[in-house]
Amino acid sequence: MTSHTTPLDSTADRPDFDVIIIGAGLSGLYQQYRVRELGLSVRVIEAGSDVGGTWYWNRYPGARFDSESYSYGFSFSKELLDEWNWSEHFAPQPETLRYTAYVADKFDLRRDIVFGRRVSSAHWQEAARVWQLRLDDGQHLSARFLITAIGALSVPTLPLVDGIENFKGVSCHTAKWPHEPVSFEGKRVAVIGTGATGIQTIQEVAKTAAHLTVFQRTANWCAPLHNRKITDEEQRAIKAGYAEIFQRCSENPGGFVHKPDPRSALEVSREEREAFWEQRYAEPGFGIWVGNYRDILTNRESNALISDFIARKVRERVKDPATAEKLIPKNHGFGTRRLPLETRYYEVYNQPNVELVDLNETPIERITPTGIRTSAGESEFDMIIYATGFDALTGAYDAMDIRGIDGRRLKDDWTGGAKTFFGIQNAGFPNLLMVMGPLGALGNIPRSIEFNVEWVSRLLGHMKARGHTRVEARAESVEAWMDIVRASAVGLLSNEVNSWMTGVNRNVKGKSERVLARYSGTGPEYRARAEAVAAGGYRELELG
Ligand code: NAP
Repeated sequence: MTSHTTPLDSTADRPDFDVIIIGAGLSGLYQQYRVRELGLSVRVIEAGSDVGGTWYWNRYPGARFDSESYSYGFSFSKELLDEWNWSEHFAPQPETLRYTAYVADKFDLRRDIVFGRRVSSAHWQEAARVWQLRLDDGQHLSARFLITAIGALSVPTLPLVDGIENFKGVSCHTAKWPHEPVSFEGKRVAVIGTGATGIQTIQEVAKTAAHLTVFQRTANWCAPLHNRKITDEEQRAIKAGYAEIFQRCSENPGGFVHKPDPRSALEVSREEREAFWEQRYAEPGFGIWVGNYRDILTNRESNALISDFIARKVRERVKDPATAEKLIPKNHGFGTRRLPLETRYYEVYNQPNVELVDLNETPIERITPTGIRTSAGESEFDMIIYATGFDALTGAYDAMDIRGIDGRRLKDDWTGGAKTFFGIQNAGFPNLLMVMGPLGALGNIPRSIEFNVEWVSRLLGHMKARGHTRVEARAESVEAWMDIVRASAVGLLSNEVNSWMTGVNRNVKGKSERVLARYSGTGPEYRARAEAVAAGGYRELELG
């Protein structure tokens, strides 16, 4: 235990640490900072060799923010805001990784982080009121509180096709990208997957590959990112305007800087609507998605109109009409899956070195030692890039053997869909606190992280002040939150579509059907309800 801390309690069977945090990404780093501030002893276990989480693992070509850099960074430290200069409106991954390292160094966080270790199991010991952890090197550690900061999209998944391991060329999932530079020059490259990751990867690989073949199963609606460098003048305005930026984020349903239009898309004339959409399409960022008319994601007619607008853009930008049609989604409306933002993505398909394979016409049969065989025949590749997504939301929890009261397994509890209290706690798992756990608020992730971490820290402070050593969400409180989650899903078109946001990943056993996978209400509502729990003295929790 580090010497500068005051233990949470002074029972004889004191655990090794007051708090163990799993993960040193943005959630884990900020949580560690706040736990230390409370004077509690803390150890962070991180699988990577450095801090950064998502930004440590996802080093694939073209990886960058889709939300404005200055709306993404931490807001809790004025000094940090003053010191850090984002270089682009949507910063590239190497810069974000540097940012997380800067945060770790500035607040001296590294000394309590163990790198290169995974937690294999975490078992609750009711009598001693501790979590007993086993790491992948066999080491045992115990803590009064276990805080998971393991991300919603941190377990990469590969396609369920035969032959992946026998491929003789280079192959890699985008979330396991090597730390060394990778050259595509002169190479025949395949990219499988066209989600937000695949689209960023494709744009970049197409610049230098001798030949790029994109394997698309479901087309996604995309909109332009319009990234550019931040000028000195803009830098000054950003620094002076942080309070307003974060205020705007706090008002947007998803925590973004954009402001939705309170009108229905059907309330305005065709001319006005088209002019508004032209303007949004020409602006940087998610404005066309989360700063649009209020009903484009709830009203079928409004959604059909915006989908038609975007489809026309694709047809204008892609020269070959047959390719354009393949790139226009037919099975879901605009914005009903997480919107990938792009930079000349559609123009890539006008290049002679790029080919689009529609897997609905010619499915992949197997990966061969030299390439990919579809029902139309075999193509040879030097490199296969799997941009095939994640075992989202619950995957990182399922990967560990987490057991609560009486050895109850979290994985079993969550069969058919997770159940939580604000995405932070669960009945039957005392002293397990999840930052950004399933069924909490998502959106512009760091905005939600800050709120979650502060809520958890306030609870720990409350307990410390009163000498409590155990907290558990009451079963009825979990049910009450799940009712709110269910109600928030009603009427949202995105909940009628297969995606990681509705819990579907056909590469994962048991995840082929849609479930209630996320809270789809607004951030302001989430925060107001969670604040009310704290202000009311945590009556929804059993404290002792
Ligand atoms: P994803 O959205 O789940 O996309 C995975 C892609 O792989 C889909 O196109 C999927 O097709 C395809 N795929 C999966 N299995 C396949 C198979 N067996 N055969 C053929 N295709 C297959 O994953 P992602 O693109 O990694 O993005 C996940 C999330 O990460 C995003 O939604 C976003 O929240 C986040 N992200 C953020 C940023 C950013 O902020 N800049 C960048 C990247 C990602 P189907 O659609 O048919 O399943």
